[in-house]
Amino acid sequence: MESNLARWNKRVPKKVNLFVWRLLRNSIPTPINLFGRGTVDVSTVRCNLCNNGIDDTSHVFRDCLFTNTIRRRLSDWIQYSIPDVNPSELVDWYKSLQVTNPKRDMIEAILFVGWWHIWKERNNALHNGKHATLIDTFNSIMSLGSLWMSSRDKKRNYDWNNWLMNPMEIA
Ligand SMILES: [Zn+2]
Repeated sequence: MESNLARWNKRVPKKVNLFVWRLLRNSIPTPINLFGRGTVDVSTVRCNLCNNGIDDTSHVFRDCLFTNTIRRRLSDWIQYSIPDVNPSELVDWYKSLQVTNPKRDMIEAILFVGWWHIWKERNNALHNGKHATLIDTFNSIMSLGSLWMSSRDKKRNYDWNNWLMNPMEIA
């Protein structure tokens, strides 16, 4: 149980850590979490990001085409192949990586910011009927990630060009 739980990541805001805390306990407000499996007609809770799945944690944060494309782009950016698994398994993945702790913290922070944005766009799609494009979402992960981390971590130089090139070099 405990191994599935992420630590508090000091590089990202409290609201992001609290969101991830809920995500990893599958207590974010999806229709199935709110009303219970068995009471929800799953045909009515389509994923608004891809229109080709169910608006449930396992789909939105793993199987969704939107999420998968973001995952592949993040992999290219950080130059680590992020496995195609659900968030709690991703926590196990980066915890077991043979990397320095600062690099592990960086991977964790970037994944947290990514999950935050996927949920934000899922909410936009659900409540506003539209969501940011994949490229805009990926750009937001990079720009807001840089803003959040540089304001919390004065030890490192979050030079924008280096950040875009490879954030792991900043870690
Ligand atoms: Zn989807």
